[in-house]
Amino acid sequence: MKLKKSSYIISRKLIILLFLGFLVSCNFSSETGVNANVESVYKNSAGNIAARIESLLQQMTLEEKVGQMTNIGLTAVCKGPFWNDIDSLEIDTAKLNKMLLTYHIGSIQNKGIYPPSVAEWNRIIRQIQHVAVKKSRLGIPVLMGIDGVHGANYTASSTLFPQQIACAATWNPKYAEIMGKITSYELRASSIPWNYAPVLDVCYQPLWGRIFETFGEDTYLVSKMGDAFIKGSQGESLSDPTKTAVCLKHFVGYANPNNGKDRTTAIIPERYLRQYYLPPFQEAIDAGALSVMLNSGSVNGIPGHANHKLITQVLKGEMGFKGFVISDWEDVAKLASWHKIAVNNKEAVKIAVLAGMDMCMVPYDESFAVDLVQLVKEGSVPMSRINDAVRRILNVKFQLGLFDAPVSDPNKYPDFGSKKFAQASYEAAKECITLLKNNKNILPFNKQVKVLVTGPTANSINYLNGAWSRTWSGNETKYNDKGKASVLDAIKNKIGADKVVYAEGTNFKENINSKEAVRLAKNVDAIIVCLGEKPATEKPSDILELKLPDAQQNLVKELSKTGKPIVMVLLEGRPRIIRNIENLAQGMLMAYVPGQEGGKAIADILFGDCNPSGRLPYTYPRYSGSILKYNHKRMDEMGAGFESDGFNPQFEFGAGLSYTSFEYSEPRLSSDTILGNQSLKINISLTNIGKRYGKEVVQLYINDVVASISPDVKKLVRFKKIGIEPGSTKEISFEISRRDLSFVDENNLWITEPGEFKILIGGNPKSLKSKSFYYKK
Ligand code: BGC
Repeated sequence: MKLKKSSYIISRKLIILLFLGFLVSCNFSSETGVNANVESVYKNSAGNIAARIESLLQQMTLEEKVGQMTNIGLTAVCKGPFWNDIDSLEIDTAKLNKMLLTYHIGSIQNKGIYPPSVAEWNRIIRQIQHVAVKKSRLGIPVLMGIDGVHGANYTASSTLFPQQIACAATWNPKYAEIMGKITSYELRASSIPWNYAPVLDVCYQPLWGRIFETFGEDTYLVSKMGDAFIKGSQGESLSDPTKTAVCLKHFVGYANPNNGKDRTTAIIPERYLRQYYLPPFQEAIDAGALSVMLNSGSVNGIPGHANHKLITQVLKGEMGFKGFVISDWEDVAKLASWHKIAVNNKEAVKIAVLAGMDMCMVPYDESFAVDLVQLVKEGSVPMSRINDAVRRILNVKFQLGLFDAPVSDPNKYPDFGSKKFAQASYEAAKECITLLKNNKNILPFNKQVKVLVTGPTANSINYLNGAWSRTWSGNETKYNDKGKASVLDAIKNKIGADKVVYAEGTNFKENINSKEAVRLAKNVDAIIVCLGEKPATEKPSDILELKLPDAQQNLVKELSKTGKPIVMVLLEGRPRIIRNIENLAQGMLMAYVPGQEGGKAIADILFGDCNPSGRLPYTYPRYSGSILKYNHKRMDEMGAGFESDGFNPQFEFGAGLSYTSFEYSEPRLSSDTILGNQSLKINISLTNIGKRYGKEVVQLYINDVVASISPDVKKLVRFKKIGIEPGSTKEISFEISRRDLSFVDENNLWITEPGEFKILIGGNPKSLKSKSFYYKK
């Protein structure tokens, strides 16, 4: 009995214990009302991401959810004021705890002026993630974001690439892919897994100061470059610790402000939005992009951050975007303060969130989170909208593997800032530089010539790198990397300092010592004058006129009086009007903003160690009163006398010369008709008839001869960059189909109309070979 009783007692205890265990396992967490088994699901790194998201979401309070939707600037949790020029970044523990533990902020971005090293980034982010992961209730890691727009440009000693416009000028998507790959590697070395790049804005507005951050004016070129950048950045899987999640900018129509000023109004009919502006975003979404940043300006008067139709219906609906949408810098608050569509910040928050914005780059404080919590409590923003936004954000955090490894081990990135990476940047710089003029083959110079190097952009690497280089403005010289060559340094290295004299001549806007430059010019064989623009982005890049400032033009005019041959090197993101000095130069290189190795690449091309192969990714206008993109309408060419005054920009989209010459055969088509969904093959033979190896960009355009909506004079549908030895011939072949002939009709639908089309094919816009064919349904 005793035994029986004791065994009875034991078994009763066991039952109670089991029951308690059962209760515990069924227990509902007092705060969240969630099953405890469910509680741990999100922590299981081998688990299915959708299940992990749901498990976490169920446990989150409203405040925690809204915190995930909030993005602040790094200096909001650092010592000192938000805008500081302190030469180190120190976390302020009280600020960090307040932001992460009281307001549950889920995302932090960028930095102050000072560019931290890899080790410093690691120290800073380790502190941040420690609080987020170890001290917060649910341990959700922070998503760190940054503008790595031409390399991990905000990490000291990283590899700086040519800016996007220069990358596009290579007409070789391989370089966009390499830039994406190396940028990701170096960002991850810095523990930053989310990159605010690429810019997929198609830009027709040369006045706009951020054109250098884009891939230019053509939808197809932008799409192909963007796609390659994303492949390089994201690879096969975001969980690869050398990959970053991209953020597509700036949805949509940002790059065409009517008045040319940053963040202002663009007027873009829906038909145009669909035909010219949305395709690069669509291609990027199809390639797996999981975040998008909004347009700070407005399209047709509707601010980008309030446009429900574009964000929710078009982007998340029609285009199938499954990622999250982040605001641009302070742009929700600006719905009230500048756009004047909200009476206060709270109303602005409501408008933006209901429009479909998922995360707000506040970036100074927690105000967004406070307002949004209230809006949900009042019932002005439904919980379903919050859950949708948070799911999208958590998905990216899980995909990136942040729950398992919120900080990188810098030792695992031995190639950071390596020679190998610098070489990749140099190769890209060599391929972007575009030879626009070469009268009497003045270039390449032989290495025996004595030269004067002059002009405002000759003697500093800041003008090669542009904005977003160590600092936002790119003008601060104290963070410049040692050992990188300006154009002047590189020319001296190439031909010997004894053959080079230098005078600045002018700065960007004023004469400095142009008389001295003229005096020195008298004793040299040739003049290399480096002109252009000072680095700037966003509002500081606004200008009032497109012409190159008078001081720089006057320098060229004065120098030309010496009778010495002049070669102009343009270091500028934007095509500045040079009509009055172009004919004073025998040679001209467009170098854009070619990056850290740009000086060396320019010297290589000037002195013949490299054959230039860049092509303009935009139209270079001749007059500021005559701005036409290459794919304009025929009627746009009608002159004042009702005749066609042609399309006469300074240089056309796709233009660029070589030190060798290429000859094209007549194009051969596989058929004279495209029937329905059949494809058409186009072949052409390309021969290098010059004396040296060269790379040619074969461009294929389509012209719809007559259409129900006035057709573009031509549109780019394919291109290929090909290297050919002298005397050799290569067969180039392309395939096109009905889709390449389509356009958006007045009902905003893509259609292809039967009738006659032409292919236009060649290496330079002035000498394209043409052949007709037909499309039949
Ligand atoms: C720019 C964005 C950038 C963001 C964060 C904004 O002002 O327009 O392109 O990604 O700041 O730095």
